[in-house]
Amino acid sequence: MELNNLTIHEAADLLRKKKISSVQLTKSILGRIEKVDGEIFAYLTTTPDQVLAQAKLIDKKIAKREALSPLAGIPVAIKDNIVTEGLKTTCASRILEDYIPPFDATVVKNLKEAGAVIIGKTNLDEFGHGSSTEHSAFGPTHNPWDRSRVPGGSSGGSAAAIAAGECLFSLGTDTGGSIRQPAGFCGVSGLRPTYGRVSRYGLIAMTSSLDVIGPMAHDIEDISLILQILSGKDKLDSTTVEKSVPNYSSFLKEDIKGLKIGVPKEFFIEGMDFRVKEKVKEAVEKLVSLGASVKEITLPHTKYSVACYYIITPSEISANLSRFDGIKYGKSSSANNLFEVYAKTRGEGFGNEVKRRIMLGTYALSSGYYEAYYLKAQKVRTVIKNEVLKALREVDVIITPTSPNLPFKIGSQINDPLKMYLEDVFMDTASLAGLPAISIPCGLIDNLPVGLQIMGKPFDEGTVLKAAHNYQKATDWHKRKPKL
Ligand code: GLN
Repeated sequence: MELNNLTIHEAADLLRKKKISSVQLTKSILGRIEKVDGEIFAYLTTTPDQVLAQAKLIDKKIAKREALSPLAGIPVAIKDNIVTEGLKTTCASRILEDYIPPFDATVVKNLKEAGAVIIGKTNLDEFGHGSSTEHSAFGPTHNPWDRSRVPGGSSGGSAAAIAAGECLFSLGTDTGGSIRQPAGFCGVSGLRPTYGRVSRYGLIAMTSSLDVIGPMAHDIEDISLILQILSGKDKLDSTTVEKSVPNYSSFLKEDIKGLKIGVPKEFFIEGMDFRVKEKVKEAVEKLVSLGASVKEITLPHTKYSVACYYIITPSEISANLSRFDGIKYGKSSSANNLFEVYAKTRGEGFGNEVKRRIMLGTYALSSGYYEAYYLKAQKVRTVIKNEVLKALREVDVIITPTSPNLPFKIGSQINDPLKMYLEDVFMDTASLAGLPAISIPCGLIDNLPVGLQIMGKPFDEGTVLKAAHNYQKATDWHKRKPKL
């Protein structure tokens, strides 16, 4: 049995039956990292000693038959923009290269309380800015399905780590697709929860009005278990919502007879890979064969979502990243006066994409331009949000491809920011509207994974998970593994 490729629910079962120990499981993951991470580079930091000590502790609790969460003793990888007490958190940026946070993010605290063992921190596009993980200051992550290709981004490390069997599950963050797109490119499942469902406390902010933390895993049963632990009101994050958290696993027992699926015609655009289109059509047909009904819908304003996102995101980035000034956190370059410290630290500490966004955002927020850009984009955002909410009054979920194309070659579009931004074309609608959305594997083309996106109503993760789980029960795409 390959312990490193188990799902959470399989591993939890074996742990409870004492057929394996958490130490064994953890060692198999550490061995796998040792073997393949030189080629994949999913991890920026690993913590072999700490993690084995944690695993031993859980094994003792299991031996004492203590009541434990299904995540107890399970190795998890955390995206390196989520702070971990005493463990380096870099955002894949030179400016935070040596930053050791003095506290845990709420999601990390929740995972630790559930007994999950933290294997390490995963690679990302610097501060989450990108769609390929090539914008990491420490080097790109490689797609386990084809190492010459990108794993998607910005949570590329978190997605690749699962696909390569280097953790059982991971946390990613999604501002404009950074959980869903890499999940699609690496053939794993990844959920962007509703904005306000999961605490952002301890997530190093990119775009505060869009950022969310969410689970990435092998299948929907696992996603449901993780979401359960992550969700709920947090008094440390005022944007979390006081709303009871349902039992997500209970949705998986239901079938999808009568489920109404909307398929927006704007999401099958010219220029996209026709083979991806075919795979998504097949997936919709599969859901129909399981009892769902399908309806073509139209979301005419979603064609503005990328433009709208790329005004709002740089604007909030320019404000959020102003705190990295060489005084408060991380790196500080020596210079002759205070202004020079700011300028030199930021000049040396930030990469090109981060600088590009800070400049764009500062421009869009400056007096005289604010009304024309930022304010306008916020109005367009409301139009997009209302339009998609209206559509979701007629259907239960909306289905689209995750990405228009297959994982692209490393280096092929790094110098073309516009092309890179267009990778988000199917991602930004759910982000701008704050909706839950998942990507699950729905096929392979030339041995590269294709992702299916399912969006749901606000706080209705349950229906999204139910649809995805019924699909996974009837197919085996989520079980396919790359040969490494
Ligand atoms: N591709 C998007 C961007 O570059 C997604 C980023 C994210 O979700 N963190 O902004």
